[in-house]
Amino acid sequence: MDYFFTEEQLMIRDLTRKIAEEKIMPVRQQLDEANRFPDEIMQELAAVDLLRVFLPEEAGGLGGGCMEVCIVTEELSRACAGVATTFSANALAAMPVILYGSKEQKERYLARIASGESYAAFALTEAGAGSDVSNIKTTAEEVDDGFVLNGTKQFITNGGSADIYTVIAVTDPKRGPRGISALIVEKGTPGFSFGKKEDKMGIRASKTTELVFEDCKIPKENLLGRRGMGFIVTMKTFDRTRPGVGAQAVGIAQGAFDEALKYAKQRVQFGKPITSFQAIQFMLADMATEIEAARALVYASARMIDAGAKDVARESAMAKLFASDMAMRVTTDAVQVMGGYGYMKEYPVEKYMRDAKITQIYEGTNQIQRQVIALSLIKQGSSGMVI
Ligand SMILES: Cc1cc2nc3c(=O)[nH]c(=O)nc-3n(C[C@H](O)[C@H](O)[C@H](O)COP(=O)(O)OP(=O)(O)OC[C@H]3O[C@@H](n4cnc5c(N)ncnc54)[C@H](O)[C@@H]3O)c2cc1C
Repeated sequence: MDYFFTEEQLMIRDLTRKIAEEKIMPVRQQLDEANRFPDEIMQELAAVDLLRVFLPEEAGGLGGGCMEVCIVTEELSRACAGVATTFSANALAAMPVILYGSKEQKERYLARIASGESYAAFALTEAGAGSDVSNIKTTAEEVDDGFVLNGTKQFITNGGSADIYTVIAVTDPKRGPRGISALIVEKGTPGFSFGKKEDKMGIRASKTTELVFEDCKIPKENLLGRRGMGFIVTMKTFDRTRPGVGAQAVGIAQGAFDEALKYAKQRVQFGKPITSFQAIQFMLADMATEIEAARALVYASARMIDAGAKDVARESAMAKLFASDMAMRVTTDAVQVMGGYGYMKEYPVEKYMRDAKITQIYEGTNQIQRQVIALSLIKQGSSGMVI
């Protein structure tokens, strides 16, 4: 299907695809087995300016937006979703600064992310607060010349490898969601350390780590937006980054489909290629159709965001929900098409299936996405069609 990308978007897609095929595919199994952060690949992406595609021009970016994040994420995920997660966590962490950062904050932090000098991470989740965001316990107590952070963040992508952290913490415990604020914390700040590194089912090239804050003092100018805006910062951020998770799911599914189709064409059983069996043909037809439907929804939601639509919560939740459920079905079917060989590590489809699972979980589980969609439908009383 032709999505009528601009010349620049086509260049971004082709360049990412080239790096994915030449530099990532040959090492993805190794990265997965070793559970290793893909620093050298991130630097390859930085060298050809792909880390700056979604950042504003005034901060050293190329001025793209959600669509550019989706294009790069999809192509990377087709090769290795762990590398894609590392890339998109950078975009997730940068989003609060893009949306709410002061001119100084943008110049100071986004330029470093754009060049690849620093990676970034977004820290919201805690042991007792996953879906229930407003239950976070990490505190940022305001003192004369800044804030003092105490608490532990869990499952933070790029934790330890990033230099810049956007952290969500409680500044006014009595005010509930209105007592939460967003702050920037730099690696190396006294009182900021890293805890357990997780050993994961999939996206194993990405790093997932605990962050520990013990009387960690940060300057006042590191507050993002106003005090008490942290919940809004978080929700507005997710509204603009969830299509990226959808794009990751589309890329994973496309990668698995390509492998399954290639295999099915050359696998012979009962004296014929298995593609001659209608059961396999129909599975391939359904997989391809579902991938395209998810891609169309992801791109449509990304275009809405980039066009400046105000309320995009429902559409971005739909894109993430539909694409991630699709990726789980398609990768499972890709293994099925390949039979026992699909189950073996010798072929990449088992990795695609393991990698797909996370897209139903992070940036809000799919149960939470359904809640977001349902609440929006009930509030607005329409199916969302714009005519
Ligand atoms: C690999 C990985 C990377 C991650 N990276 C980051 C990161 O960079 N930054 C960050 O801040 N977080 C990150 N996370 C955290 C992630 O966003 C959370 O794991 C996710 O939001 C779910 O929270 P939870 O794991 O605590 O599950 P829970 O919230 O405990 O949910 C458990 C189950 O209950 C369901 N559930 C919960 N509440 C409801 C409800 N009200 N209605 C219906 N069902 C409900 C959920 O859908 C789920 O099925 C990451 C997680 C993983 C696994």
